[in-house]
Amino acid sequence: MIKITRTFPPHQMTSEKVKELTEEYLKTKKNVWNQDYIKKALLTMSHDKCIFCECKLGEESKYIEVEHFHPKSLYPYEVVDWFNLLPICKRCNGLKRDHDTKHEPIINPTIDEPRQHLFIKNYRFFSKDEIGKRTVRILQLNDSERLMLPRFKIGNQVSETLDILVKWIEKTNGTQAIDDQNEMICKVHNLLNSCQSESEYSATCSYALFSDENYYDIKKHMVNKGIWDSDLEELEKKCLEHCLISDDVLKQCSV
Ligand SMILES: [Zn+2]
Repeated sequence: MIKITRTFPPHQMTSEKVKELTEEYLKTKKNVWNQDYIKKALLTMSHDKCIFCECKLGEESKYIEVEHFHPKSLYPYEVVDWFNLLPICKRCNGLKRDHDTKHEPIINPTIDEPRQHLFIKNYRFFSKDEIGKRTVRILQLNDSERLMLPRFKIGNQVSETLDILVKWIEKTNGTQAIDDQNEMICKVHNLLNSCQSESEYSATCSYALFSDENYYDIKKHMVNKGIWDSDLEELEKKCLEHCLISDDVLKQCSV
């Protein structure tokens, strides 16, 4: 889970349209939110991901469902309020159901900063406060089969790439040809890209990268060789902004 910036509502959602759909829902209880333009705008906002678990939507068995953060059963007047709608996967939707978020708040990633409430350690989400604890419990964010396995897989890929790069530096005794250096820049660039907010499970990827000591050795080597460029610096900065690694682990690793 990472912070997502709420985009503007789709142009079709005029105040007249919202009023019309809300009235229709109040009378008929029809799925008035189930509009292509709403789903498309929500997917654009979240980079095609579930707002809570960060799985990619639009793939087999992971189609977008429109989530009412304040449940429509309790707050029917918010049934098509753009600021109440979130893109979500079937798994998360089935777990959150009609949980009353006004009385027992959970993290809303378009409003709250998830890193203030959660951190990741050993690929599990841990809470920093009551809202974080409730969010993990209700959304089962440490679901071993559906979430932990993909996180392990991604984390392992990151660690393996870092391992190869460190061995490569050791093998060449730090004296690499320009082609090799370019390849190293490219690989680190790709690693940092996989941690950006557009990528699936970006919070996990960032955790895997920044909690691995090899990353800091590689960076140190690249800085010494003058091949750690401004692009890499910018990509790293963006990852650190949404990284859910705990401050103590981050400090420990970056020394
Ligand atoms: Zn989900």
